[in-house]
Amino acid sequence: MPLTDKSFSFEFFPTKTDAGHEKLLQVARQLATCAPAFFSCTYGAGGSTRDRTLDTVLQLEREVQIPAAPHLSCVGDSKAELRALLTQYRDAGIQRIVALRGDLPSGMGMAAGELRHANDLVEFIRAETGDHFHIEVAAYPEMHPQARNFEEDLANFARKAKAGADSAITQYFFNADSYFYFVERVRKLGVDLPIVPGIMPITNYSKLARFSDACGAEIPRWVRKQLEAYGDDAESIQAFGEDVITRMCEQLLNGGAPGLHFYTLNQAQASMAIWRNLGLPR
Ligand code: FAD
Repeated sequence: MPLTDKSFSFEFFPTKTDAGHEKLLQVARQLATCAPAFFSCTYGAGGSTRDRTLDTVLQLEREVQIPAAPHLSCVGDSKAELRALLTQYRDAGIQRIVALRGDLPSGMGMAAGELRHANDLVEFIRAETGDHFHIEVAAYPEMHPQARNFEEDLANFARKAKAGADSAITQYFFNADSYFYFVERVRKLGVDLPIVPGIMPITNYSKLARFSDACGAEIPRWVRKQLEAYGDDAESIQAFGEDVITRMCEQLLNGGAPGLHFYTLNQAQASMAIWRNLGLPR
């Protein structure tokens, strides 16, 4: 697949303050110079960011003029709430949605909500809105942390494709082989939708380690050890992280990945640096 046909995208999270929101728009304007296929904005499971996700997506489209995709998760939201949001998005001209189960904050349990798994949400979106939305779903090359085993997780991923998903974005990983193996195994199940690797730039070791533990992404020993050795030396962490991630992205793109989705954490610099290193067009 030529580079021009690949899909590049950037993910944000909605901010809590006006100042944070203004900064997010500035970051988005910088990243817009890469002419991505879309921006996406996360959603707090249980509706905690319902209005902020909606506002952010609408502003990204209106003010930065890049198509924006809201994430939507089904745990903790009723069908009526999901239906109302889908209507708002459709009426606002939004065309892409990232459909997820979500994780409720601890203490809220998992039974809340009428739809239990992401495949139920994909089915619901299709039933409510037909083919209006391009539906993205999540994929886990290193296995979802709650999955009982890899085979079941693959089968559950295939359910989302069968329910009507158009493409997938992966959880981040630092080992390109896990991605290639996952794609190969999914193809054997007859699932042919594009699976875009999610890319987490490395900028801060302690945050990354905490986050990776929670979401089941493995930091390889050689990467961990070097990052630990840099201690508070932010410049060295950044340079090393940029090098490691650039090489992995090269491997992924050369090996046939249909694009890259950057978890920006609302920062432009790290994703832009990788973009430049890869020689991607601007
Ligand atoms: P599912 O696909 O439902 O899978 C969850 C678990 O259930 C897996 O272990 C799977 O094997 C199993 N399973 C799936 N279907 C079935 C079934 N029918 N029967 C039995 N078991 C099943 N979280 C947020 O809260 N907000 C966000 O905005 C957000 N954005 C994300 C974006 C991306 C690209 C990714 C990769 C993750 C994102 N997450 C977000 C995190 C995500 O919500 C969590 O990883 C969550 O735990 C699982 O969501 P899912 O959609 O993958 O769930």
